Amino acid sequence: MKQGRVTITTRRTMELVDITSSLHHDIAQAGCGPGLCHISSPHTTAGITINEGADPAVARDIIAGLKKIVPLDYPFEHGEGNSAAHIMTSLTGISVQLFYDGGSFQLGTWQRIFFCEFDGPRTRGVRWLMVEERP
Ligand code: ZN
Repeated sequence: MKQGRVTITTRRTMELVDITSSLHHDIAQAGCGPGLCHISSPHTTAGITINEGADPAVARDIIAGLKKIVPLDYPFEHGEGNSAAHIMTSLTGISVQLFYDGGSFQLGTWQRIFFCEFDGPRTRGVRWLMVEERP
């Protein structure tokens, strides 16, 4: 098994950041062979999801849709004022698993891996763990 961590600097309160290339780079540097990669966020107000990366409007629409589902002005109890971000994180989840082979994730044509910032801007970290096939 090999593991690593990718740092992400977000620029907006809410945004989806394509981290596919950063992860590819980090995993290639670690010299990983084929296997199953677990990618996980340790944050309570930021998630991870896989969706279309070809049209950047899709990522913006996901944020717009989440804002529609979770009203930012709802009178939540949590004192930090970021309850919507906590709820959105539970909706997206904080981890994904992907097959990795031939130097890249086995993604569909339009799929990319997104870090989902819901309470930024901040500096964040995402961990990956590669369970490599036995030779
Ligand atoms: Zn909070």
